[in-house]
Amino acid sequence: MKQVCVLGNGQLGRMLRQAGEPLGISVWPVGLEADPEAVPFQQSVITAEIERWPETALTRELARHSAFVNRDVFPIIADRLTQKQLFDKLNLATAPWQLLADKSVWPAVFDKLGELAIVKRRTGGYDGRGQWRLRDGETDQLPDDCYGECIVEQGINFSGEVSLVGARAQDGSTVFYPLTHNLHQDGILRVSVAFPQANIQQQTQAESMLSAIMHELNYVGVMAMECFITPAGLLINELAPRVHNSGHWTQNGASISQFELHLRGVTGLPLPKPVVNSPSVMVNLIGTDLNYDWLKLPLVHLHWYDKEVRPGRKVGHLNLSDCDAGHLSATLEALIPLLPPEYASGIAWAQSKLGA
Ligand code: ATP
Ligand code: MG
Repeated sequence: MKQVCVLGNGQLGRMLRQAGEPLGISVWPVGLEADPEAVPFQQSVITAEIERWPETALTRELARHSAFVNRDVFPIIADRLTQKQLFDKLNLATAPWQLLADKSVWPAVFDKLGELAIVKRRTGGYDGRGQWRLRDGETDQLPDDCYGECIVEQGINFSGEVSLVGARAQDGSTVFYPLTHNLHQDGILRVSVAFPQANIQQQTQAESMLSAIMHELNYVGVMAMECFITPAGLLINELAPRVHNSGHWTQNGASISQFELHLRGVTGLPLPKPVVNSPSVMVNLIGTDLNYDWLKLPLVHLHWYDKEVRPGRKVGHLNLSDCDAGHLSATLEALIPLLPPEYASGIAWAQSKLGA
């Protein structure tokens, strides 16, 4: 019996635990309230579901433990400054950027990066939080504590966003899912669509970029890379050293889910390439109450996180997968009246992807 402790106990930890069950892998998500006596960390492999976990005596112990896989990689990726420096070191295309050191850099920023500047906190931001979109004349809106603690990057006029979820084994071999198309609204992922076969040029470029990163870091397990699609090819937006929201469709649309793949990676189990035979759609449930009417639609898989429903909070997702894209699209249409009106545009976006 293998045991895995996870730093963090949000939905990603929960889904790692669910994926471990059929494999005989016990997974222990560790949050603020974890009882140190009950967590068998001395006999476990340690991993994380977030870049910054709550600080307790137990999580401090786990985070410095030699069985924490990728222990020394987390600090590099958790800070956008060192993450961006990594892209530059490896010569990987990313949105042009610089450190927002102090107020005096602004004229040079607009000179160098153009009219729209995206300021991002170096640490702790997520779902578009800790992020500002600023034009010349608007920089006073930025809190003073951002200087030194943020990077600023060029606002990219992208035609779409894709992400690559891949995994690297202890022996250095890598496997990847097909690229996932992602729709973000207000900085938060709303809908993802994936196909068995992605655009071959984009897939090749993305795999070579993520491979270079994982090899450089000697990384083991699942990593996700978010990219912007531009006429010049893919630009890396950011990395996540963990399972990722844009990979949730793999729970029902691939032979091995990203959660199982990560557990296999960190415990040294076989890591064959996941097989994907049909298109998939994932709809994030954001601040929306549970509605079992969704289950009247035969293609719908519900993943509910059992969290208190609050505006803007991810509380679950719906996965749909079928080899008939028309059938998928019709099911999405039937979902519209079962969801609040703000879902309609994201669903229409997914339908247009399926029709393309
Ligand atoms: P996540 O929840 O994925 O961790 P995040 O809040 O950490 O997200 P990003 O992924 O950097 O932050 O940004 C969220 C979204 O904001 C992106 O998916 C994209 O839609 C938009 N965005 C971010 N950076 C840029 C940019 N340089 N140009 C244009 N849009 C951007
Ligand atoms: Mg992101």
